[in-house]
Amino acid sequence: MVSDLTRRPIGVSLLGSTGSIGTSALRVFARHPERFVPVALTANGRIDALAEQVATWKPAYVGVVSGEPPVGSGWHRGPACLVEAATHPDAQVVLNAVVGAAGLHATLAALRAGRKVALANKETLVVAGEVVMATARAGGGDVVPVDSEHSAILQCLAGRRPDEVRRLIITASGGPFRTWPTARISDATVEDALNHPTWRMGSKITIDSATLANKALEVIEAHHLFGVPYDRIEVVVHPQSIVHSFVEFIDGSVVAQLGVPSMELPILYALTHPERIEDSGVPRYDPVAAGSLHFEPVRRDAFPTLTLGIDAGRAGGAAPAVFNAANEEAVAAFLEGTLTFGQIPERIAGALEALADRPGRTLEELLEADAEARRHVQSRLSC
Ligand code: NDP
Ligand code: MG
Repeated sequence: MVSDLTRRPIGVSLLGSTGSIGTSALRVFARHPERFVPVALTANGRIDALAEQVATWKPAYVGVVSGEPPVGSGWHRGPACLVEAATHPDAQVVLNAVVGAAGLHATLAALRAGRKVALANKETLVVAGEVVMATARAGGGDVVPVDSEHSAILQCLAGRRPDEVRRLIITASGGPFRTWPTARISDATVEDALNHPTWRMGSKITIDSATLANKALEVIEAHHLFGVPYDRIEVVVHPQSIVHSFVEFIDGSVVAQLGVPSMELPILYALTHPERIEDSGVPRYDPVAAGSLHFEPVRRDAFPTLTLGIDAGRAGGAAPAVFNAANEEAVAAFLEGTLTFGQIPERIAGALEALADRPGRTLEELLEADAEARRHVQSRLSC
């Protein structure tokens, strides 16, 4: 059988094209112009970077959420452009590489329209995991993870039944403060926190990797994507970021996926899933050159945000949405210099204490919880 992949190019709507994932995706497209055609590109406000991409790729649709498009460009403007791009008639796949809960509506719109969503925007699943997965089932769309750990789990699970899975083990690099004394971490500067040892990413996820909020978001993401209960999802620190995650099966076999730390491979796999295509640009893994692989437990006491997030996931309802929104606001304040690193978990804990019990069954309730949590953190910034 000749697959669709070998016959005609796939139209991709790339949301967040100017970011770290967005630009990695465009490098993947550039190596496979016969297979991937970006039909829509969107950015938030980096007009110059977007204009350069538009000149190269000439997409049918261009959107900016909060910037001013060049005069006469024909670009679309405002938050609605994400949904318009996500439901563009020429797009078979939507690669959602927006950062934060701002990406949620576009994911839902794409799934309602029956599209495949290659999802980097993990906040989508943290805010409204149940709603998103139900929308995918109802609309005939599909959610395929871009996150490297979830791409690894998806690859390890290929062909296996859910009742054969005993445990997911998600790896974490440990971030820049893995070896710092606990007392020193709360005084870390923005520069310290942005200095990630193995990955070059956007600033929000880099701070999330330093607090380990990112790993909490990923545990929640894995729970929704793979339907595995929280008590069967574990986190282990692996500083080299070569093993992207493990799956343990009920017979005791453990399967892992490995590769050098580059997002181009999980992006490519999300686009071609369930197939694979040859790609000579993805950096290759050499086990001898890579040397030894090291694993250690997470220092939960040093990184309280991890436990806050996982507990919010277990609690369910509005709690994960509150965790996510409070984290987004706290990280933005830390980057602006109005919160210390140590205050990030404090403000998240405060928001969860005040708001986690709110109802969170419907999309409206979840969005209200998100907005309340943002107000909660913002109103305490001057305290
Ligand atoms: P970046 O900050 O590098 O890029 C974010 C992109 O989203 C940019 O194109 C930005 O536009 C756009 N954007 C920002 N805010 C908004 C908004 N409110 N509405 C619409 N668009 C917006 O982030 P990353 O690429 O690092 O991360 C993107 C997502 O992928 C995140 O959810 C992250 O957790 C996830 N992820 C990232 C990984 C990585 O290696 N970077 C790895 C795994 C997951 P502009 O440039 O104009 O500001
Ligand atoms: Mg990840």
